Amino acid sequence: MVVAGLGVSGTAAARALARRGEHVVVLESADGERQRAAAADLASLGVEVRFGEQDELPEGASLVVVSPGWRPDHPLAAAAHRAGVEVIGEVELAWRLRDDARGAPWLAITGTNGKTTAVRMLTAMLTAAGHRAAAVGNVGDPIVTAVTREGAAREGVAGEGAAEPYDVLAVELSSFQLHWSKSLAPLAAVVLNVAPDHIDWHGSFEEYAAAKARIYPGAQTVIYNADDEGSAALAAPYGRRVGFTLGVPRPGQLGVVEDLLVDRAFTADPVHEAAELAGLADVRPFAPHNVANALAAAALARAYGVPPEAVRRGLAEFVPDPHRIAHVATVGAVDYVDDSKATNPHAAAASLAAYRSIVWIAGGLLKGAEVDDLVRQAAPRLRGAVLLGADRERVREALARHAPDVPVVDVPGQETGIMDRVVTEAAALASPGDTVLLAPAGASLDMFTSYGARGEAFAAAVRRLAQR
Ligand code: ADP
Repeated sequence: MVVAGLGVSGTAAARALARRGEHVVVLESADGERQRAAAADLASLGVEVRFGEQDELPEGASLVVVSPGWRPDHPLAAAAHRAGVEVIGEVELAWRLRDDARGAPWLAITGTNGKTTAVRMLTAMLTAAGHRAAAVGNVGDPIVTAVTREGAAREGVAGEGAAEPYDVLAVELSSFQLHWSKSLAPLAAVVLNVAPDHIDWHGSFEEYAAAKARIYPGAQTVIYNADDEGSAALAAPYGRRVGFTLGVPRPGQLGVVEDLLVDRAFTADPVHEAAELAGLADVRPFAPHNVANALAAAALARAYGVPPEAVRRGLAEFVPDPHRIAHVATVGAVDYVDDSKATNPHAAAASLAAYRSIVWIAGGLLKGAEVDDLVRQAAPRLRGAVLLGADRERVREALARHAPDVPVVDVPGQETGIMDRVVTEAAALASPGDTVLLAPAGASLDMFTSYGARGEAFAAAVRRLAQR
């Protein structure tokens, strides 16, 4: 067996295969300290690591397991294809290693935005219902690690990790992971939404959507967002469908009635009966997109049999991850909110829709995405904009086209400390009652090491502003 890439999931895959007695060769292009240490660790399991660029398959390979970051057009994938050798990802491997008859079922989540939030909400609901659950995949441990540990606990094998088996796994899947998957059969699966992102990797929007669609065919219950065209279209071919909507739900849907989240799908009589799940006020931080995430998580939880009361308690106990519409401070009656994780226009549109009067901080790497729709929708609520990063000119042009009266401040430069200038400019544009919102619509890697670092820099600058 060949494992391509010695990252977190590749290492987990190699380890799992070696433990099953397979002969494993790992191919890794980078030859750094971290990789050498991982290789030394794997050597004790009999795994051979070959360093350097490799475009040819090792002799006798019967299966190639690739890291999720691997592009579909990588030469090794092409070589495997020519040789008739199957190429899968770590998620597919985990599914195959899972003991079908007895392994914990999967509740699977994908979508352009909201995956981590929905997975964490779901895990909180499952835990509140007394189930042993874990969030895995694109968050938390690699799935293959969770599945092997889980199997070991089930078999009573000591020293492999989990003390006891999980009842159920809440699985976050990226489009990259899904691209390399083919036979997943989760108990229930959701595509939260579909909007352009990662087009450079997949090659086209159609390919990106097709990767997301791979979550559905094997799922026992197909859950979709009735308010999102892309999600609804991917779910359309399936009979066993449950929708969710921010509007009043029809039978077979979850939705919102006045200030309540209700379920008209998993009750005994969905035509006549709606189960109250939670109040809108139980959704924190409150924003329409988080209500959608809560409904998606609730639908998956209900598919697994979680009672309404545990859905509500799960939401109450849910702790949001940082940099997702996180309130940083109120300074001079202006709220400062960090949504640095809004790394694409669809995400930024959702957070802009959650506030009435906004000074918007935007920019970064747009990865080829368009911002015109986003700016057009947000225009009536914008009081000002402060732009930073590589693609700020593209945002400025869109503002000039669709919001010509909105004052815009351009903050050029790459230096550390730039956020102090950004925040000072935003504060000058804001009036009492406004929200200064960092929702960049672009990735952070032009100026920061991660979206987290960008959010931290923003929060630190806001705190300094508060002390002035
Ligand atoms: P992901 O794991 O898919 O990146 P997160 O839960 O980390 O999703 O949220 C990332 C960002 O996407 C948030 O900061 C917010 O701007 C936006 N977002 C979250 N949920 C949704 C949603 N349901 N629809 C649109 N945008 C969303």
